[in-house]
Amino acid sequence: MIRHRQLLFWVFLVVLGACLIWRLPINGWGSLIWFTGSVALFVIRHPHQTKTQDMVTAQRFNAGTEQLLLILVTLGMQVIPGVHLVTGLLEFADHAGGTVAPAIGFFALLTGLWLFWRSHVDLGRNWSVTLELRQYHGLITKGVYTHIRHPMYTAIFLISTAQLLLIANWIAGPAALIAFSLMCIFRIPQEERMMKEQFGDRYQQYMDRTRRFFPKVY
Ligand code: SAH
Repeated sequence: MIRHRQLLFWVFLVVLGACLIWRLPINGWGSLIWFTGSVALFVIRHPHQTKTQDMVTAQRFNAGTEQLLLILVTLGMQVIPGVHLVTGLLEFADHAGGTVAPAIGFFALLTGLWLFWRSHVDLGRNWSVTLELRQYHGLITKGVYTHIRHPMYTAIFLISTAQLLLIANWIAGPAALIAFSLMCIFRIPQEERMMKEQFGDRYQQYMDRTRRFFPKVY
């Protein structure tokens, strides 16, 4: 059954890719780079999702709000840009795009994907898609977590900025940045409170020596 679903998913991606190649003259090269980045995002996350799916969750926080925020981010990062690029639904909001913005977008995407991969590797079995504490949850302060507390969110911000620069549309372009910013506004204070309750002084000291998204510049 699972294999069947996976096969269907890959067929869906191939059809989507073919549609985007067909619509390349309308959407521009940025659209294909955006699509490749979205597939890469999935490929990076998938093994971690599989590895952690049977792990025991000790505590789950704000389950309802978290589900809503996840739907919002899926809309902004995948559904709205995907539907627009395939159907031209939002073409009334298209703009010229140019060549410099997509080129910067490409590098933002590469950097974001690298950080996305590293933060999954460093967080290991402590990673979860919603706010949770696992059984035997450990506090990670090494690797890309040495200087910043939310490298995975920094990565998603970079990838969302790439979407803005790669998709020449005033709605589909910024959709990911808007959705993800809203998610962070609600989630990060809750996440830090949860970590402080769980790890006490250790997390407080970690907070004191790090920043949320970018390393301190001395
Ligand atoms: N905010 C982090 C992690 C995102 S994944 C980042 O942007 O990189 C979300 C889960 O990671 C949360 O449910 C929390 O349980 C866990 N988490 C966040 N920071 C952590 C840390 N420093 N060590 C271990 N787990 C952490």
